Amino acid sequence: MRPGAATFSAMSATVPVRQGLFTDTDPPHLLGGRCAACGHHHFPHHDICPYCASEDTEPAELSAMGRLWAWTAVTHAPPGYKGEVPYGFGVIELPEGLRVITRLTEPDPAKLHFDQSMHMVTEVLHVDDEGRPVVGYAFAPVEVP
Ligand SMILES: [Zn+2]
Repeated sequence: MRPGAATFSAMSATVPVRQGLFTDTDPPHLLGGRCAACGHHHFPHHDICPYCASEDTEPAELSAMGRLWAWTAVTHAPPGYKGEVPYGFGVIELPEGLRVITRLTEPDPAKLHFDQSMHMVTEVLHVDDEGRPVVGYAFAPVEVP
């Protein structure tokens, strides 16, 4: 079966690619953390702050909007990857002041540019052995009217 938007909407039972990375709200949000000691956000959430080693961290929903900082296209499937290629891959800078590494919905690097406004989406990566769509996060260009 070919994964895609139609498959996603037709099936009710989906599974996240990994628990605790993002919400299933509309719009979805990445689930990071914030350190009460130094104030930095991080992603994914850690019990120990990666900046100051404080254990005083708490989960935090991150902004659904960000700006494109770096990008490329993945044209050959990495080991263990069962989805389609090519796909976009890049770094998004969030208003919280951190950069997250993410899939991009746009596989053509020529259609992306630095500081482009992007928003978070969820998308089906592949269908697992039990027929359930496996959902991951990505960032998509904000459509300019
Ligand atoms: Zn800290």
